[in-house]
Amino acid sequence: MGLREEPPGTLNAFASTAEEFDRLAATMSPELLDRATGQTRQFLREMGQWADDVAHEKLALRWGYELLERFLVCGRTEVPCRLFFLLDSVVAKTFSRPDPFCYHKDLLSPLGRFLDGLTSRAVVSRDALIALFHHWYGFGQRQVVRILGLGPVESQRVYKNFKRWRQAGWRRVVDEIGLTGEELEQLEQRKARHLPEINAEAEDLLRIVLAHYRKSEPEHFPCLTRREWAELFVEDCEYDYRVWHLALCPDCLATVYDVRRGRLTDIPAPRVDLQIRPLKKGGIVSLLAAKRGGGIGTRTGPTQRLSRTSA
Ligand SMILES: [Zn+2]
Repeated sequence: MGLREEPPGTLNAFASTAEEFDRLAATMSPELLDRATGQTRQFLREMGQWADDVAHEKLALRWGYELLERFLVCGRTEVPCRLFFLLDSVVAKTFSRPDPFCYHKDLLSPLGRFLDGLTSRAVVSRDALIALFHHWYGFGQRQVVRILGLGPVESQRVYKNFKRWRQAGWRRVVDEIGLTGEELEQLEQRKARHLPEINAEAEDLLRIVLAHYRKSEPEHFPCLTRREWAELFVEDCEYDYRVWHLALCPDCLATVYDVRRGRLTDIPAPRVDLQIRPLKKGGIVSLLAAKRGGGIGTRTGPTQRLSRTSA
């Protein structure tokens, strides 16, 4: 009914049934996302937390998606309704909560803040993105290059600024998160004493963090099936895709490892192996990995795994 009276995309688009809501919401999703993102931007401005840069634009976009999802979940039970008005009410409700950006209370712990802050940086900084392979899985350049199947040129390109991350980037993120020296020290002590526990906790938190941050991934970087990944490696292309997607998607990383495991017998399957400090120069990381696990390739650490496909 609403469809006949109000063409989709207008301010007054009206849904009288749940089916009509679904249809209109699907047609109007670009406008709805735009509106939710714009209101997030506005909210951040009013709170004095806005800056004109890519990081803030991406934050607004992620929250736009988050709000759109909430709208889609509640909308079917709110009919009859005008779509834009309902969206506005979802946005207003969200932003009137005491701390709307605290999307999970566990992310307030030092470990949660560390994982959240690092991922937040990784969606706007290639240095931080590459560093995730180290901080999450303990992989150095040699292992990352082989798992991702990067040639010498790509390897050089991807790691060329690693010194910059080691010397300044990591410190900048830690400062932005507001982690004190004492908190970092406590995290390292926890890691030394309770390695399986802290890794298991990090794995759980990463699921929450990545579900939020992956919303700003380019739309043309979706998850692929096992067969599609295998084809992509045969074709020897899409290096940016491999780096970007696999850094932020534990499931696809496990799939890719499994697809390529015949060539990776000396590299352990990716599993969360939290590293607080940045990757050190040269081969130091691989030496540490060998010591920690009793030899590369025979690592027998904590049993938690990232994916069923890598068993
Ligand atoms: Zn994926």
